[in-house]
Parts: sequence; structure tokens; C-alpha cells
Amino acid sequence: MTLARFRGELKTNPSLRREVDRCAYVAMATAVQIAACNVAHLLQARLARWLLMMGDRNSPDEFPVTQDFIAQMLGVRREGVTQAAAALQRRKLIRYSRGSTTILNRVRLRASSCRCYKVIRGLERPARRPTRAPRDAPRRPRRDPPGIPLFSCLPVQPIARKRKDDPCSAVDESGLALPHQGSSCTLS
Ligand SMILES: [Zn+2]
Repeated sequence: MTLARFRGELKTNPSLRREVDRCAYVAMATAVQIAACNVAHLLQARLARWLLMMGDRNSPDEFPVTQDFIAQMLGVRREGVTQAAAALQRRKLIRYSRGSTTILNRVRLRASSCRCYKVIRGLERPARRPTRAPRDAPRRPRRDPPGIPLFSCLPVQPIARKRKDDPCSAVDESGLALPHQGSSCTLS
């Protein structure tokens, strides 16, 4: 399909227009959520989130991926990924060997992920259509068709700034700062 024809379709096909707008919204909102995640959440939770997202796009939950690649995706050093992956492996949530990762326990890996995974999953789910009102229900004033409010309600979770004196400070799901994680901290 040529660009001109596609543009023409967008003008005359509201369903297509809505889907294209929704895809653009999901892509932008996901990018914003991940950017916020990368500066605020602990590496182990971010790794769990990233592996779950990879698992959603691979069936079964097994995919070839190197720790170098994961480190690039998460914007951290490889050593940090090695430590975080080893911790998840010790808890029997994943198995990692020779560039291949398998999710062993998705439920517990979800529990180990930061809340960003749930937020992004919610974005990717198609919007529910409103249920039809019964015929004898009182008529409501007609509204414009529901559009997608770009940039108006990006579902980014509140992020607390890291404290300067404690590079390992993290935030919980409500955005409040958590205390130093001690020797088990994997933030890099
Ligand atoms: Zn996160």
C-alpha cells in the first residue's frame, strides 16, 4: 500500500484511524514508562520486568538472549545483569545457560518485577468496548466518540528521586523511597 493510499484510508476509515492512534499511544506511553523505570527501580525488578515482556513475545517462555544485550536494553553494566540474573536463578524463577533464558515460574517472576510490567500490560490490552444500554434505559446526551487522549494521561507511576547520599535507594510501588537494600542490593 502506498503512503498516499494509507493516508486516504486514515481519513475515511475511523476504525483504522483509532487503531493507529492507539498503537502510537501505546508505543509512546511504554517508552515513557520504561524510561522512568530505568532511573527509579532496582535492577533485579527491572530485569524481571524485561524478561516477562520478552516472554510475552515468545512462546514458550524460552528465548535466546545474551547478558550483554540485556545490559544494553536496561542501560546498565553487564556485571549488574549477571548478578541480578544469578539471584533470579537461585530463586528458581529463571534458568540461564549459554545465551538462552527460560522463565521457570512466571507467577513468582511477576511478583519480583516492578509495577511497570503490569502498567505496560494494561496499555497493550485492547480498550474494552462500552456495554450496550438496554432499550428502555433513559437516553444520555450524545458525546463525541471516545478518542485517545495523547499525552494527557500517560500512566507513569510516581517516581521518587534517588537520594544523593545513597545510590542504592529505591522506591516502592507508591513511589515512596525505600531504605538501603544492604549487601543484597543489585542496583548498579
Ligand atoms: Zn519499573
